[in-house]
Amino acid sequence: MILLDGKAASEKLLKTVKERVSALKKKPHLVVILVGDDPASRLYVKNKQKAAWQTGIRSTVIELDYNTQENELINRIEELNTDEDVTGILVQLPLPSHIDKNKVAAAISPLKDVDGFSPENVGRLTMGTEPYFYPATPQGVIMLLDEYQIPIEGKDAVVLGRSNIVGKPMAQMLLRRNATVTLCHSFSKGLDDKIKTADILVSAVGKKIVRCKMVKNDSVIVDVGIFRDSDGQLTGDVDFDYVSDSAGYISPVPGGVGPMTIASLMFNCSKIYQ
Ligand code: NAP
Repeated sequence: MILLDGKAASEKLLKTVKERVSALKKKPHLVVILVGDDPASRLYVKNKQKAAWQTGIRSTVIELDYNTQENELINRIEELNTDEDVTGILVQLPLPSHIDKNKVAAAISPLKDVDGFSPENVGRLTMGTEPYFYPATPQGVIMLLDEYQIPIEGKDAVVLGRSNIVGKPMAQMLLRRNATVTLCHSFSKGLDDKIKTADILVSAVGKKIVRCKMVKNDSVIVDVGIFRDSDGQLTGDVDFDYVSDSAGYISPVPGGVGPMTIASLMFNCSKIYQ
């Protein structure tokens, strides 16, 4: 079994991004909007800022009060859309429940939408035209597979989870690379049998779901899930010890997809369209 070392691959990618940024005449400027005071969101934003700093990308955080209204947030985004000094805009999720995240995603210019969540970028991904930005986590997964020269074309891929930020774009990206994709969710029947068919399994559920020796021999297992178990330890969707006997490749949690997501986001931030 070969470990898909996301930490090492992300460091390599961050180095490439840094070189790319230093060669740019106009330097990228990422603006992150944080609404409210969720400690986990604050930590994610801090990590993004750290990676931006590491790669020479300027970053600014706009902190808005939890009670900010949807139209106020959208007005701020529209100002940033037309600000030539700003090359990337990211709104940290989750948003307070009185704000519709889809409306917010739609307000961000697709040319500055470094998260790749705007309707135009999602539409381009689905239609098979090149989006301006691919969502960071699935792009990070593809980059990790590419780093280990794992073939995707013609493979049977199973994706667990169908969120807009991971599962759905992951399925689309695998499809673009000519895998045959099965996308599973909480209503899927016979999940164990479906998992057994996977040459490439990507799990993005947030529960210990890939538990026993249910994976195909020599398959590639990418664990996107990250949550705390009952002992407070960070863990993923895959029962690593059981599955590592049969899998050919497996990504650990932590140290797999997490660091790739941040590096992939920085890759996006280094792209300038305006
Ligand atoms: P989410 O929005 O909660 O989506 C979870 C998905 O899992 C849903 O589509 C849900 O199905 C499906 N699901 C739930 N129970 C299931 C079951 N028993 N069988 C099959 N599918 C089931 O979560 P998310 O935002 O995509 O995140 C998923 C996990 O990835 C979380 O642990 C999150 O922390 C992690 N994550 C990690 C990174 C990273 O960089 N490492 C980035 C993003 C997310 P329904 O649609 O039917 O409800």
